[in-house]
Amino acid sequence: MEGETLTQMAYKSKAIILDIEGTITSIDFIREIVFPYAESHLEDFIMNNWKEVREIGLLLQQQSVDSKGNSGDVIPLPQVPSTENIDEIQNFQRALVSYVKQRMNANRNDPSMKKIQGLVLRNAFRSGDIIAEIYPDAVKALETWSLENKQVFTYSTGIRDVQIEFFKNTNFGNKAQFIKAFFDTSIGSKLEIEGYKFICDFAKVDPSEVVFFSDRPLEIAAAKKCGLRAIVVPHKPTDHPSSYRPISLTNACGKLMEKMITNRLNYFFETHKKISDFQAGFRNTIEQAAFLLQSIKDGFHSQKSTLTIYVDFKSVLTILFGLRNLSKKWQIWESAGVCTNGSNPSCARDKQRLNAIRPFLNSSN
Ligand SMILES: [Mg+2]
Repeated sequence: MEGETLTQMAYKSKAIILDIEGTITSIDFIREIVFPYAESHLEDFIMNNWKEVREIGLLLQQQSVDSKGNSGDVIPLPQVPSTENIDEIQNFQRALVSYVKQRMNANRNDPSMKKIQGLVLRNAFRSGDIIAEIYPDAVKALETWSLENKQVFTYSTGIRDVQIEFFKNTNFGNKAQFIKAFFDTSIGSKLEIEGYKFICDFAKVDPSEVVFFSDRPLEIAAAKKCGLRAIVVPHKPTDHPSSYRPISLTNACGKLMEKMITNRLNYFFETHKKISDFQAGFRNTIEQAAFLLQSIKDGFHSQKSTLTIYVDFKSVLTILFGLRNLSKKWQIWESAGVCTNGSNPSCARDKQRLNAIRPFLNSSN
């Protein structure tokens, strides 16, 4: 099982469970297009869709009663008007806008916010205001799995109705037919095993025959704990800083201090003749390069070869390997009859260099 590719794992499975954000669509698309749309159209939706807003209001009111005492600093949910009085309805709608916006700022996954957001987004995808952007390789995978008669499910924090509209309105057309069923976190958190177990039971397959794809390692861990096979999908935007790990963490002060210490040490070593004239390390690179070039030129004019051995202690094995390659190169030329009479100047030079480093090669074997 270890080392299997995403394709191999999927091929051996009977069912596939797909995360959506960061797995089949980019995180940037969700956070820079979808969420801002929902936020900017929230008020308009609440003020113009009384029937649906009232239903959600009643549902939230019930949840608010059930979780009384756990609301913290959250402003109270306004009371849903029991009459059709237009003033009461508008007061409730305005209060609901403030309530949802406050919950939205406090927690993007807040259930009350998710429900309203879901309705706004469902309309957005349905009307074509937003076209769902899914990865081309995700489309290919869906088509392949369909031909292989695999059951494919989604499992996302986005509510089910939005997922359906999302798949119906993608940049590759309607792809909802490839998904057997859409699941959201009403069946359980994606960081717990219950939701994965629920989907396996629904599909009537053993968890070991199901593969879960996600971009979040914590979700992968939960799926594996349930007995599924799971793999992190390596979708990372190349233009986003979070896709890269920093290499150097030295700050400006540290670099300045390093430069000052190096200069002082160099001054001490040079003035006290502590370093051989032939040593390049700990010295100004430009000066050493000039020194080497001059040696090569001098050797060229006096018809001598110049041999330089670079020893970088961090990668000394690479250097030794390179020297051995010179030995092999010579053997190949010699066996091919290219360098037998020494008339080839290049061969002659290489033979001379090879003889010079042969003791070193022998000792390093
Ligand atoms: Mg995700």
